[in-house]
Amino acid sequence: MRSKAVFGGRTRPKGSLVISMKNRIRNDIILALALLLAALAVWGVVSLTRKTGEYAVVLINGEETARYPLDKDAVVEIETEDGHVNTLVIKDGEASVTFADCPDKLCVKQRAIKRTGETIICLPHKLVIRIEGGGGVDTVV
Ligand SMILES: [Zn+2]
Repeated sequence: MRSKAVFGGRTRPKGSLVISMKNRIRNDIILALALLLAALAVWGVVSLTRKTGEYAVVLINGEETARYPLDKDAVVEIETEDGHVNTLVIKDGEASVTFADCPDKLCVKQRAIKRTGETIICLPHKLVIRIEGGGGVDTVV
């Protein structure tokens, strides 16, 4: 009796299993790249069609306390309920936090926002600055 495996009368070529595994891995990589490209394309379309907002809305504890038009430059000291401070700056149609006395300073590190739906969040102060207006996200003319 010969030790070589025989399938349906044909001898299975040695190494075919390895090759098909390699092909499968390559297909997986191609699939992953395709998905990544598709995701990038969707993201690109969404960010291009997203409208520039009209207002920077300040929410403390989830409640709107103020809103400022983005087309007017302003520096606003936002004081939270427990006496903490964030400085909101609106300049060139963009809103950003330039100073905060929170421990992590994550809100200060966030880049300026200007498109509808974008937010700057200061977790320690339960403060959210959200861009609103500008015709919504799905408006494509
Ligand atoms: Zn903060």
